Amino acid sequence: MKIGLQKIVKCLVVLLVLVNINILNEDKVSAENSDINEVQLYSMYHVNPGDTLYLIAQKFDTSIEELMRVNHLKNSLLMVGQPLKIPNEKGRYYLVQPNDTLYLIAGWFNLSVSQLKLVNKLTSNNIFVGQTLYIPDRETVAIINQLPIGLYKNGADNRNIQLVQQALNHYGYALSEDGIYGWRTTKAIKDFQSQHGTLVNDGVYGPNTKKVLQQEILTDKYIVSNPNDTLVLVNKEYGLPKDYVPNNLVVPNVKFLFNEYHPKKLMRKVAADALELLFNQAQREGIQLFAVSGYRSFERQHWIFSSKAMDIGMWQANTLSAKAGESEHQTGLTMDVTSESANFQLTQGFGGTREGKWLEKNAAKFGFIIHYLKGKEHITGYEYEPWHIRYVGSRAAQQMMSNDITLEEYLGKVGTIDTRQSCLIP
Ligand SMILES: [Zn+2]
Repeated sequence: MKIGLQKIVKCLVVLLVLVNINILNEDKVSAENSDINEVQLYSMYHVNPGDTLYLIAQKFDTSIEELMRVNHLKNSLLMVGQPLKIPNEKGRYYLVQPNDTLYLIAGWFNLSVSQLKLVNKLTSNNIFVGQTLYIPDRETVAIINQLPIGLYKNGADNRNIQLVQQALNHYGYALSEDGIYGWRTTKAIKDFQSQHGTLVNDGVYGPNTKKVLQQEILTDKYIVSNPNDTLVLVNKEYGLPKDYVPNNLVVPNVKFLFNEYHPKKLMRKVAADALELLFNQAQREGIQLFAVSGYRSFERQHWIFSSKAMDIGMWQANTLSAKAGESEHQTGLTMDVTSESANFQLTQGFGGTREGKWLEKNAAKFGFIIHYLKGKEHITGYEYEPWHIRYVGSRAAQQMMSNDITLEEYLGKVGTIDTRQSCLIP
């Protein structure tokens, strides 16, 4: 009952946010970079002498099959000068072509029509030429399609259990994939069921749990296609690819809380340079800041989050930390910062210190924003975090600051953060 009430409140909040977006869109700040990257599905290539489909596929990290499909080729004969569409390496979207149907597209990507509709929030089977459809990554599709049919409970022991464990881990739990339905698997299933009112909370895996698990994994988040963009939005709705490691990670030359090397000292060069300027200016004004934690790999974030999820349940874990792929720290563009006056802690109290106030006032000049602002929790999906700064570039940062908006609002991508978690499954 308690969760039911929470869901209703959250749905109301989401509705209010949706109303808000319409207002904001009127004077939406342009953020072309990011949007263009997301819909740039293909690059054009002109066939050179000596080219074969095989060579071209190899060159662009795609397959012959994929090239034939996107170019509607009937055979593998190529002509010099012929234009070919090359799917973007990290493209997550499909551009609808003449004569395409949902049925055909779903089949190409191993999805069912209803799954394709679900991830794209389509309410009918109508699609139009030029429409972009989000396609989940292959690993995710394979994991949900391999989920076994049948009933399994505590004590079961076979290969099918391993597939269930794999899916639960993909969703954010921490199970050893040993194929044994022990107390930890039961606990994870129970926790998952407890989040979804339609499921019986009995710790038994069956067809209903399978169906909801498939839906939840599919709609958990969109994987962004522009992870390197300094304006990339990473939150509970938009995630970074599992294998994304930023280029050019360096240790910024600023004061840290600790002296020894640790990967969490790393930042992308562009952000590290800006952080050095920010810290130097602070120093000049008698403000002593300390860097605490920057880059965090997908694997490390998965370990942190999934241990929490097993311990206190996923709903609670989601309010306290980010799922792997959903942490801004994986971008290499963020740093957690503190001061002596905040007892070197990362607490909301930092926001009230002289250092915290200075940071809030000056971060934007150096290209940083305080991403998780007070009063914007329903938009960012996170509690107020005055210590967490994110590099976006100074032009964007100053626009966000002067309009008192978050990155989500700046990019016009507000509104569905909690929808999936609380409203999708009635
Ligand atoms: Zn942080």
